[in-house]
Amino acid sequence: MSRYWSAVTHGLTPYAPGEQPGLDNLIKLNTNENPYGPSPMAIKAICAAAADSLRLYPDPDAKALKAALAARHATSQAHIFVGNGSDEVLAHAFLGLLKHDLPLWMPDITYSFYPVYCGLYGIDFRRIPLADGFALRAEDYLPRDGERAGGIVFPNPNAPTGRLLPRAEVERIAAANPDAVVLIDEAYIDFADDDASAIALIDRHPNLLVVQTFSKSRALAGLRVGFAIGHPELIAGLDRIKNSFNSYPLGRLALVGAIAAVQDEVWFQESRRKIIVTRAMLTARLRELGFIVPPSSANFVFARHPAHDAGEIAAALRQRAIIVRHFKTPGIEQYLRITVGTDEQSATLIAALREILQTARPGTENE
Ligand SMILES: *Cc1c(COP(=O)(O)O)cnc(C)c1O
Repeated sequence: MSRYWSAVTHGLTPYAPGEQPGLDNLIKLNTNENPYGPSPMAIKAICAAAADSLRLYPDPDAKALKAALAARHATSQAHIFVGNGSDEVLAHAFLGLLKHDLPLWMPDITYSFYPVYCGLYGIDFRRIPLADGFALRAEDYLPRDGERAGGIVFPNPNAPTGRLLPRAEVERIAAANPDAVVLIDEAYIDFADDDASAIALIDRHPNLLVVQTFSKSRALAGLRVGFAIGHPELIAGLDRIKNSFNSYPLGRLALVGAIAAVQDEVWFQESRRKIIVTRAMLTARLRELGFIVPPSSANFVFARHPAHDAGEIAAALRQRAIIVRHFKTPGIEQYLRITVGTDEQSATLIAALREILQTARPGTENE
């Protein structure tokens, strides 16, 4: 608290990101980073761009990156918005497209940054309960009893549950809410089946905005690049916000790195495939240890042990230099969100869990 803060600052509840400890030899499975690293072509492009031209501002419209993304996703530059990480793209969308008199609808268990943006921008929102096993039901997002949404937002696959809503169900929601923007945050979509993305629907639904990131499947969390694809009217709205906030959200290094990453389809497919394979193995091993693990379409799994407290397991893992994410949020406080690492990291994790479960006295909290 400070008397120098504005009333807005006093009223904020900021997002708490997963920790980034500076320790080496840590198995870091807490923030869904990609263990395989970025495309070597991206690194090469970034190194080559670390040159005298850095004295010049970057292209404020990021045209070359938009052209690469347009080619990759079979659309046009007018359908694309890019930002400094998808968190920035989301923030602009909350202010520019989702803030209306009617409340914004979102799942009750979802990316915890959404309520933070609502707090920052004064957006009224409503939490829609998930069904059993954290399933998101399209029915719950259709207008009913004369009630409509001012906007709709959810990640698909959802975070931190990993559950995927089939594309046909996403389309049902978009079609039933033509007057509201439906924002699908596809941070993890590249770890789902090939035809899961809602990008294929944007030509039919001008209210649909799809947001993706380079942080997970393209292993460029440190570069900060995200993008949105949707009808040019939505993109123009985002541009108005962006150009009222920061003309150059992406620097020269981010632009060239992202372009090279988009163009390296081979590296992308390879790393995504490895993670999908490891996820299946990790899920099976966790279930053998007695964990309850809903099916995940993301690069993490969400797991609960019926006989052991999640906080205690997380603490015991930490003592063994393995960090996972434990949310103390009511309803999911007995779950751990575990990033899918390499096969070797997964094996180390499973061995540590086996030891922890054997030595710990089973609790009763969670039975
Ligand atoms: C990681 C994540 C993001 C943010 O990604 P950045 O592009 O790194 O800002 C957005 N949404 C969800 C659901 C995420 O998990």
